[in-house]
Amino acid sequence: MQTRPMRLGPLEDGQRVIIIGGGPAGSSCAIALKNLGRKLGRDIDVVLYEGTQYGPDSIKRVGVLAPPLVQTLENTLGVNFPCQLVARKIVGYYLHSGRYSIRLYMGGNLSYVAHNVALDAYLLGMASRMGVRVLSGRVKDIKINHHEVSVEGESGGTRGDVLVGAFGLDSFTAGLLEKVTPYRRPRALYSIMAKIPAPVEYLLGCEDYIHVFLPSMGEVEFGVVTPKLTHFIVNIAGRRVSHEALRRFLALPEVARLIPTDALAAWSTSGGLVSPPIPFPLEPARNSYGDRYVTVGDAAGLVRAYKGNGINAACVTGAKAAEVMLTAGISHEAFLYHYFHAFSDIIKDLPYGRAVRRLVLFGEGYGLLPLVLYAAGKDRTLVNVLIDFLSGHKTYHRILKDWGGVELIYRFLKGLLPWMPPARVEATKPAAEATMGRLAPR
Ligand SMILES: Cc1cc2nc3c(=O)[nH]c(=O)nc-3n(C[C@H](O)[C@H](O)[C@H](O)COP(=O)(O)OP(=O)(O)OC[C@H]3O[C@@H](n4cnc5c(N)ncnc54)[C@H](O)[C@@H]3O)c2cc1C
Repeated sequence: MQTRPMRLGPLEDGQRVIIIGGGPAGSSCAIALKNLGRKLGRDIDVVLYEGTQYGPDSIKRVGVLAPPLVQTLENTLGVNFPCQLVARKIVGYYLHSGRYSIRLYMGGNLSYVAHNVALDAYLLGMASRMGVRVLSGRVKDIKINHHEVSVEGESGGTRGDVLVGAFGLDSFTAGLLEKVTPYRRPRALYSIMAKIPAPVEYLLGCEDYIHVFLPSMGEVEFGVVTPKLTHFIVNIAGRRVSHEALRRFLALPEVARLIPTDALAAWSTSGGLVSPPIPFPLEPARNSYGDRYVTVGDAAGLVRAYKGNGINAACVTGAKAAEVMLTAGISHEAFLYHYFHAFSDIIKDLPYGRAVRRLVLFGEGYGLLPLVLYAAGKDRTLVNVLIDFLSGHKTYHRILKDWGGVELIYRFLKGLLPWMPPARVEATKPAAEATMGRLAPR
């Protein structure tokens, strides 16, 4: 058998990339390989394996397309943002804890709500039109040696020059890569989602806000209620979330008041749609790259700890890996210096992310978070800090540097004096903006 020469430099005309996974990370990598390759005068052969057939009833994620996804698609990937998929726009968040809520208007940084897998289909279709060979069926085996990589899938085997692991947190596939490389999957939290149909008129009457809850519930670190056009998506996250925890979350008065009682009852009695626990990464994978392999998206875990825009991170890491393969190479060194180091802001922010998570868990455990919301309701600076925390634009380190830790503690304590809590606190928006929508009527 003729072996390939060992070339770990930038990909050359005709070399082959094998991508496992056709989620946003895999498709973005494929699109960027084709786009940038053409600009550099090289035709890269891209083979992408996708093992799941998603349909209208698929429930994989919420489907919020958060900033800066529009810029990522249009500027980094060179594809149009699919406005036709947008069902609703989101202008901000409500943060709830116990009796207190605060409204955080994102100042024109809109998010969009779409069917949860619509963007995957759009990007995969785009990749296919650009000449990527999309093979249906799951990959069952991976081999990587000095000279080539090969995979065996339900739709046949392929040999290539480099492997891109874009398989999300698929346990089986992570196991395959762990067997043949030092790759170790990221630690994860789990989320359960419920799709609760509600009358369209009711949903249209709800504000264009996502509701984030930080309840004192032990197993639930946070919960989110997202209004779509025909239903609510409710998801809870934690280390060990269960359907029972979801039911208890839905019964919390502050959650129950958002969803019509009839809709909740109908969903409950019909044994409504609930996902199994779905993992999402808490921190980066170990050895997420090496000679002839690189992981992207959730498989790499290069996401801002505790922040929500995983689709954007998947697209950014997929596109960056493609650029590195075409310009720096497919060796361990190329991926270390040009791919992994490109995300050093995320890596350096990990200790801060962990500290924030511990603080939130501590606050939930001791019922302190309502006080934070109460104090923030009286201080515009604290509101801005919360907006920064939720938006994902800045690292935690940057937020603390910009606002000053001691200053924040001072403002928080000042906000608590005098401690005369009203039943509900709303802040952040001038009166004119506050009339844009109304909270679910109940
Ligand atoms: C409950 C929940 C809700 C979320 N909601 C949002 C949201 O609203 N907005 C947002 O930005 N992010 C959200 N996220 C995060 C987001 O879903 C992920 O960050 C994003 O999907 C990562 O993309 P990916 O391409 O890396 O992986 P994935 O989207 O998981 O794609 C991996 C693909 O690989 C395929 N695959 C795996 N193994 C194999 C194999 N052996 N052979 C062939 N194919 C294989 C899978 O079928 C899958 O299609 C949510 C996460 C969770 C858990």
